[in-house]
Amino acid sequence: MAFDLTKSIRYVKGVGERRARLFEKLGIADVGALLRFYPRIYQDWSHPLKIREAPLDTPCCVAAKVVVPPTEHIARSGMKIYKATVSDGQDEMEITIFNSKYAAARLKRGEEYLFYGKVSGSFLIREMTSPEFEKAGAARYIRPIYRQTKGLTTKIIEGIIRAQLKEAKGALPDPIPAYLREKYKLPALYDALCGIHFPKTWQDVTEARRRLIFEELLILQLALQSKKIQGKRENSARVTQNYAEEFASLLPFTLTGAQKRCIDEAISDMMGDTPMSRLLQGDVGSGKTAVAAALCYTVAKNGYQAAIMVPTEILAEQHYAFFKKLEDKTKLNTALLTGSLTLSEKRRIKEALKSGQIDLVVGTHALITSDVAFKSLGLVVTDEQHRFGVSQRGALATKGENPHTLVMSATPIPRTLALIIYGDLDISILDELPPGRQQVKTYIITGDLRQRCFNFIKKHIHEGRQAFIVCPLIEDSEDTELISAVKYAEELERGPFSGYKTGLLHGQMKASEKEQVMRAFLNREIDLLVSTTVIETGIDVPNATVMVVENAERFGLSQLHQLRGRVGRGKHQSYCILISDAKGEDTLRRLEVMRSTTDGFIIAEQDLSLRGPGEFFGNRQHGLPELKIANLATDMRVLKEAQRVSIWILENDPALEKQEHKELSTAVNSLFSKLIE
Ligand code: ADP
Ligand code: MG
Repeated sequence: MAFDLTKSIRYVKGVGERRARLFEKLGIADVGALLRFYPRIYQDWSHPLKIREAPLDTPCCVAAKVVVPPTEHIARSGMKIYKATVSDGQDEMEITIFNSKYAAARLKRGEEYLFYGKVSGSFLIREMTSPEFEKAGAARYIRPIYRQTKGLTTKIIEGIIRAQLKEAKGALPDPIPAYLREKYKLPALYDALCGIHFPKTWQDVTEARRRLIFEELLILQLALQSKKIQGKRENSARVTQNYAEEFASLLPFTLTGAQKRCIDEAISDMMGDTPMSRLLQGDVGSGKTAVAAALCYTVAKNGYQAAIMVPTEILAEQHYAFFKKLEDKTKLNTALLTGSLTLSEKRRIKEALKSGQIDLVVGTHALITSDVAFKSLGLVVTDEQHRFGVSQRGALATKGENPHTLVMSATPIPRTLALIIYGDLDISILDELPPGRQQVKTYIITGDLRQRCFNFIKKHIHEGRQAFIVCPLIEDSEDTELISAVKYAEELERGPFSGYKTGLLHGQMKASEKEQVMRAFLNREIDLLVSTTVIETGIDVPNATVMVVENAERFGLSQLHQLRGRVGRGKHQSYCILISDAKGEDTLRRLEVMRSTTDGFIIAEQDLSLRGPGEFFGNRQHGLPELKIANLATDMRVLKEAQRVSIWILENDPALEKQEHKELSTAVNSLFSKLIE
């Protein structure tokens, strides 16, 4: 009989109700999760060293006999300290134990022990402080160290996992089918779990990890890919005529090659058998709006309505203005729908949407309220999609019958990673900026030059330009953020910028207040905007030419890139000044990346490799489940392989119905249910 992985942790031998609660704290509810609770690190007790072989300041295991058993000393603080001397026959070492009479009493004269800890001291006197130790007889193995919680030590966890693995022997269902294990020379699940929890050699760990990482990524890919397949329904808003060129001829500028390519990719989707479901990634200023516009135009000319949803009213107005300017030529009936319209205006627009009079609507969340209905919604565009909640993202599409969807994002992420994270979307990348764009000049300065930086800002304000100063959240408390930004703005207003029109923007303000400030900035009623990182992404203020970032070392590269993208949007030369007193080599290297390139994709790659995926994705909603063992930055090769294999599997067995895929299908379904919120 197959081993039951769904058995509640409560009923596992050695657990019980109290420990079950502690296990739940560690995210372990059943036996399956227990076996997949991989060690955080290992301690190698398998090959104890001689004292003279022990490296300094690196954890290691030393075998030695007690020659002088612990004696008690009282430190000035009152703390009890126990000191013993041990010897391996050649050299001696001092052992220091703090405050534990019980531990000290376990060390008996003449007995041999294994000590695990960091050796320190000079060439003559070696010492180990607060080591773990055991009688030398047992204990010679590579020990798994688990994340623990109060009352549930790594030792206890180890014992429980060991017992469960024993029971599971020969009865563990394996999600990776035998033919794949053979092909990739991967160990079976049982062997991999033994290898990861109780390796005999380091090679065991490597082998086990290889298999478990592959498994994790394969299941993730299959779940994402099948989401894509299941998402593909009938194309009920099929485009039959391509109006891209006609639209291009109406524009005051020539489309870039990248824009044309992305438009073509999308239109060929919309002409296909299933609705389009595409992500358009493009750096700030790469012209995503024009791409979206070409698609809206094409859809409208084919007899369907299009809707663009954006996160803020100002952005909605800016997009709307773009279409309105072209309305004479496009002849599209365009409307704006936001929360701040009067009731009667809203009613009028809603009626026109329902009757089909309106071809294109641009709006905010107001678009997804329940009383908005369309006659024939054919295309839904979501701009700055990360700003919407998961449920909001899908809501607009339900107002049509399988409409095409385009989501736009200005957060460049490395292409390979995008392919994987957005496995359920097709991806177009706008990797070319419109011509004639001025490069923003970037400088890195230390705090003592701040005064000169302020003078620089003033000079630009006198020339009629505007500037931003961004300061980071000084501490992680929300209140502190408020105080620091507010205080800073006040200081500037009273000091260096008295007589100038300054404004303030921070995360504690209501959406409507933020909009008010942004609007004032847009209308040049504010010269200098002091802000935390909440500055609205995507807003075009072509007159702003200076972006100053305080404590620049505290920001991620991608974030700095986003901030820099707020300037350089008009015809004036723009500047980004990063203020930092940090001296760390890593920090300086990161800031140097900002100076050396303005390519968002290069910056994203650097950011990912310098900070790792945890940080990189830190405050971004990427919708991925937490990975237990794979690392998206370092396991990229496996990731690509897993993606290839998953596509191949689904081509041959789209519903994972074959007997050999039974376990795989179970694993995929369980992950899949977590992916569709
Ligand atoms: P983003 O990709 O950041 O949303 P926008 O769509 O707001 O960029 O475009 C930025 C600016 O570039 C806008 O003022 C837009 O009119 C202009 N633009 C877009 N495409 C082109 C082009 N091919 N040639 C010249 N200007 C362009
Ligand atoms: Mg935009």
